[in-house]
Amino acid sequence: MLFDNHTHTKHSADSDMRPDFAIMEAADKGIGLVFTEHYDPDFPGDTDFTFDKAAYFKEYEPLRSSRLRLGVELGMREDTVDKVQAFAKDEPFDLTIGSLHVLDGKDIYDEDFYEDKEKQELYAHYLEEMERMIRLHPFIDVLGHIDYICRHAPYSNPDMTYGDFAREIDAVLRAVIETDTTLELSTKRFGSRQARKELFTIYKRFYDLGGRYVTLGSDAHTQDAIGAYFVDAEDMAREAGLSVVTFREHRMQISWYA
Ligand SMILES: [Zn+2]
Ligand SMILES: [Zn+2]
Repeated sequence: MLFDNHTHTKHSADSDMRPDFAIMEAADKGIGLVFTEHYDPDFPGDTDFTFDKAAYFKEYEPLRSSRLRLGVELGMREDTVDKVQAFAKDEPFDLTIGSLHVLDGKDIYDEDFYEDKEKQELYAHYLEEMERMIRLHPFIDVLGHIDYICRHAPYSNPDMTYGDFAREIDAVLRAVIETDTTLELSTKRFGSRQARKELFTIYKRFYDLGGRYVTLGSDAHTQDAIGAYFVDAEDMAREAGLSVVTFREHRMQISWYA
């Protein structure tokens, strides 16, 4: 079965989604679901991107089924690596996503972050840092949204073109492959035809370097976004030669082979 491997519910600071509504929505769309709440401790700013693990499992464990798995989205930072590893360890999570939301101690979501920053230099730095974080967090199952910075960057063309960052993107993809991590295909920006085109080049390159598996993830924070653009994402994966997978108890399960 196809899974949406990246979704947030009310245990994430930036989502109010009810788990029962999310499960209903996924069933309507004929897909399975993985809840991946934020665990990004010591986050810059006022929002607490952590959650109470005991309360979470008490409430969600009974909902677990062949169509619902429980995961977590871990922030990848040098200063919190021990905390996030300890949080994810020895707990019955099915899947851990590693994500870069913070760069140089600043929130990438924040508009001020981009002030006085030039795109070429900033994106190259973001990718170099991502490579370093993947190698520092070899315990994660999946690298989340490689194009996260493009969501928020205020540039007239926020897209990450492979040719402009070939060396840095290759380094990220090699780190993913060498640490036995799976690459997420995030559909969050699939509303943009240009974004899809640029992403396809990156996923094709991933295949050329030896990558074979992707998870599909909508990064839904609301019910309507669950499974968004999955038909297009499946087409992209197939064209790139990549098989679509999910995880159960940190073990890869194939949804379909390319
Ligand atoms: Zn994220
Ligand atoms: Zn997320």
